[in-house]
Amino acid sequence: MSMIDVKELKAYYTTEKYGRIYRVRAVDGVSFQVHKNEIYGIAGESGCGKSTLLKAISGLIKPPLEILEGEVIYNFDDQSLNILSLQEDKQRRKVRGIRLSHIPQGSMSVLNPVRRIRKSFQDLIDAHLKLENRTHLNDMNMVKKHLDALGLEWNVMHSFPHQLSGGMRQRITIALATILKPDIIFADEPTTALDVVVQRGVVQLIKKIKKEQQNTLIMVTHDLAIHANLCDRLAIMYAGKIVEEADVNLLFNQPKHPYTQMLLDSLPKLGDKSTRTSAPGTPPSLINVPPGCRFHPRCPEATERCRREIPELVEVEKGHRVACFLEEGSK
Ligand code: SF4
Repeated sequence: MSMIDVKELKAYYTTEKYGRIYRVRAVDGVSFQVHKNEIYGIAGESGCGKSTLLKAISGLIKPPLEILEGEVIYNFDDQSLNILSLQEDKQRRKVRGIRLSHIPQGSMSVLNPVRRIRKSFQDLIDAHLKLENRTHLNDMNMVKKHLDALGLEWNVMHSFPHQLSGGMRQRITIALATILKPDIIFADEPTTALDVVVQRGVVQLIKKIKKEQQNTLIMVTHDLAIHANLCDRLAIMYAGKIVEEADVNLLFNQPKHPYTQMLLDSLPKLGDKSTRTSAPGTPPSLINVPPGCRFHPRCPEATERCRREIPELVEVEKGHRVACFLEEGSK
């Protein structure tokens, strides 16, 4: 059984400009499943809707973001839960921390700048761990054990966030997100603000935690190298829709959607000094999306049909889904 089952999800931002209401169709009919203990990556250009998708499936829904349609079901060992049916943020918060957690892009959105790091751990434990006979000493022992397991020094606990490097702050954020051993971790561009050497350390840390705790992880980043290094399966998003999904090796070696092929062609390759190509044009506005296939204005293979009809995301070989008319009948 899948750990997360997303069905026909539509999540739009509603904005008003000069008295007119606009709908930004950031997530527009997205369905996918994430298996237990896997790392599922979501990639795409900035503005394709990947971070909104992560917010929607983790229940972080605040105006102007609205869910118009769809379901997001979590299948925990002891219960199934539709996160979107929990109306109140208070109800959703109960699920977070212990069952779900977030690793955000910026550590300063989690760490309180005027409190020492140990206070952030204490606040998190106080908010989510409702055990009888809890003591401060037991809590701190739990934190120490967790930091030891992650190879982090205990003395960082006495620091204020500004006294630590960006890489150390991000490691602390990851330690915070995982101390209660959540079933599901949502990571939104967790390495984007870091240099490549520090990125490598953070990726290794995430792998280590995942191996020890057996969590399910959903990783959003535009950085395809991070996906290649970390993920089991990868979904490529374009203009609010998933256009291709496959095992990460399959997707990198045999991309089928023209957009995925262009994304991969734009990556530098060791020893190849030829000019890299990239997708012509820019992604469409999510307020006025093109009719038919949303990629057709940039697609070199587009036909008249692509301008009229929307291609479905269909399985073209085992575990490989593609939304492109070129793949019709290839199964
Ligand atoms: Fe290109 Fe048509 Fe395929 Fe869209 S459906 S990616 S426009 S060939």
